Amino acid sequence: MNRHILTAALVLAVSATIFAGGQPERVVNVYSHRHYDADRDVYDRFTEETGIAVNVVQAGADELIERLLAEGSSSEADLLITVDAGRLYRAREAGVLQSVETPTLLANVPEHLRDPEGAWYGITKRARVVAYDRSRSDAETIERYTDLARPEFAGRVAVRSSGNIYNISLMAAMIHEHGAERAEEWAKAMTRSFAREPEGNDRDQMKAVVAGVADYAIVNTYYVGLLLTSDDPGEVTVGERIGIAFPRLGDGGTHVNVSGAGVTAHAPHREEAIALLEYLTSREAQSYLAGANYEYPVHPDVEPSGIVASWGDLEEADTPLEVLGALGDEATRIFDRVGWR
Ligand code: FE
Repeated sequence: MNRHILTAALVLAVSATIFAGGQPERVVNVYSHRHYDADRDVYDRFTEETGIAVNVVQAGADELIERLLAEGSSSEADLLITVDAGRLYRAREAGVLQSVETPTLLANVPEHLRDPEGAWYGITKRARVVAYDRSRSDAETIERYTDLARPEFAGRVAVRSSGNIYNISLMAAMIHEHGAERAEEWAKAMTRSFAREPEGNDRDQMKAVVAGVADYAIVNTYYVGLLLTSDDPGEVTVGERIGIAFPRLGDGGTHVNVSGAGVTAHAPHREEAIALLEYLTSREAQSYLAGANYEYPVHPDVEPSGIVASWGDLEEADTPLEVLGALGDEATRIFDRVGWR
C-alpha cells in the first residue's frame, strides 16, 4: 500500500515536471531515507543553480533498497541516499548502484569515507561515542572502546541490540583494528559490562544513563543533538545532562560512519544524478546537510555546526568504511557466539 502511494507520488511529480511549459526539463529522482526540511532547501538551491528539478521519494533505508531491487531496470530512481556504510555496502553487493568517479567527488569526499570503486560517497558523518551523565561521571576513564570491557565497568554500560547496523559496523571496525580473535574477546567481555539486556534505541540508552540504570551508553553523536532540540522537555533535560567521550579504536581515532549516496545501477538521468551528488558534497551544501541532523560534514574544509562543535574535537579513525560492510557478517557471527543479543 505504502509502496503504491510512493510510486504514484513520484509519477505525478515527474509528469508535472515534464509537462510544465511543454518542454522536457532536466530532472533527477532521489530515493532518500532523509526527511529534513534543510534537505529540501539544498535541493532547491541545486535547482536554482543548475535548472535540474529534484524529485524525492522518502522511505526507510532497507525499504528503498528492496524497492530498487524489485524495480530493476525499469526504476525511475537516479540517486539512492541511505545511512550506514554497512548498508551502502549491501546496496552495492545487491547490484543496485553503479560506479561513478569524478575529480570533484574525489576532492570533496576523503578516501576512507567512500567506496573504492565509486559506488557510494559519504555525505554526512557521525561518530559512535560513549555518553555519560556529567553529574556522576567524566570522560577520563574512557580512552578506547576496549576500556568499556574492563572489569570495573561490569554491569554499567547500556547499548542497543546487536542486530542494529550501527553496532554491526562498530564490531566490524573492531575486527579490522584488532583482528577477529581479540575483537571476539572484547565482545564477550562487553556482555559482562551490560547494565541490562540490550533494548531500545540510542536515545533510550542515554535516558537509561540519566535515570541511573547505567553509567555509560554507546550512542551515535547526533542523537545527543536530537535530545537537546526535542519538543519533549524531558528529552531536553536528558540531553543537557549528557557528556560525550570520544573513544579510540586502538591507537587510531573514533569510529565514524556516514550517511551516503550512490548513483543507481539503471539511473535514467545519470548525468543529473552525478551533478546532484557533486553538489551534496560541495562546500556550499555540506554544512546545511550535516547541520540538519547534528552530523559532521564529510568535506574536509567545512566546519561542524555549533552544537556539534560543542561536544569537543572529533579525531576520527581512518578505517576504510567499505570494510565495515565486508566484515559485517563476521561481526554478526561474533555477536551470536558471545551472546550479545
Ligand atoms: Fe540513526
